Amino acid sequence: MSRFLNKKYEALEAYVPGEQPRGMEYIKLNTNESPYPPPPAVLDAVSREELEKLRLYSDPECAELKQALADSYGLERKNVFVSNGSDDILNFAFMAFGADGAVFPDVTYGFYKVFCALHGIPFAPIPLTEQFEIDPQDYFGAQRMIAIANPNAPTGIALPLAQIERIVQENAEHVVLIDEAYVDFGAQSAVGLIKKYDNLLVVHTYSKSRSMAGARLGFAFGAAGLIEDLERIKFSTNPYSVNRMTRAAGTAALCGSAAAYYREKCALIAKTRDELRERLLALGMEVLPSLANFVFARCAAVDGETVYQQLKQRGILVRHFSTPRIRDYNRITIGTPAQCDALVLAMQEIMKEKQQ
Ligand code: PMP
Repeated sequence: MSRFLNKKYEALEAYVPGEQPRGMEYIKLNTNESPYPPPPAVLDAVSREELEKLRLYSDPECAELKQALADSYGLERKNVFVSNGSDDILNFAFMAFGADGAVFPDVTYGFYKVFCALHGIPFAPIPLTEQFEIDPQDYFGAQRMIAIANPNAPTGIALPLAQIERIVQENAEHVVLIDEAYVDFGAQSAVGLIKKYDNLLVVHTYSKSRSMAGARLGFAFGAAGLIEDLERIKFSTNPYSVNRMTRAAGTAALCGSAAAYYREKCALIAKTRDELRERLLALGMEVLPSLANFVFARCAAVDGETVYQQLKQRGILVRHFSTPRIRDYNRITIGTPAQCDALVLAMQEIMKEKQQ
């Protein structure tokens, strides 16, 4: 830390992203990326012609991309916001709507509390139930902005749409942000509710179901007023936060052939997930019922940190969090069926070695 840093950031604990290893080749099941590449339409969109246009700024309004997103989801362009990854959007949303404070589950996406710390927003974590579920009633009349990841991360457990709607109804004076980063793997989306409620903001990403984590593209849907608020903050930060290549790739990812490709890959990932869960349960592990592209699993005989280390020694990276409530668990991204086979084999070995 230099002596020049603004005092208000001295105690700020930055978010720690999952490892992106260099050198050794790992089976990488630690940051919920897709194991499948983007479809041909996306690869073709980042053409030489597009690269030659890099001398020009990208369209700060992202009109074409927004229109394509609006068309895909049956909405209007004024209901769509895009920026550099959904983290960027979450950041803007906490800045814009967190004046009265924020609430979110005690076990959820670790960035929410970092955004609160960054912007001096008081936040109150609401404990999940014993089963790691959200009890909607805990969020009724919260008197603050609410952030809920649905499915939740790192548990993978989803709330049904009717319960999300109740939370939105019971907090009409504050924004309810539903982070649907993982919704395409089987949960119910709240996008259809944005026409009905002016306090609902639904945030999505291209990073998971659209195989584009490295492109950095997130989008959000909400009433026109909410979108204008986010634009105000974006245009006060970096109007060009979506670069030309990402804009081209992101628009192409919405065409018919790409959409069909993604539907197929999401279904395959969901099937692989359900099979992996069954296999880990058969080994005697506890695995939460996930609707995301990862599972959250615990092994009674071996602690979470050891499982993480032993998998790493065997060339498999998963995500371990040292927070007390979840330190027995590891979050395992769903890879290809072959990668999941390797994981099951490694877990078998680790558990067997423990018995000896
Ligand atoms: N929300 C949740 C729940 C996540 O797990 C992630 C991925 N780390 C994000 C948002 C951010 O995704 P991105 O910035 O890549 O769009």
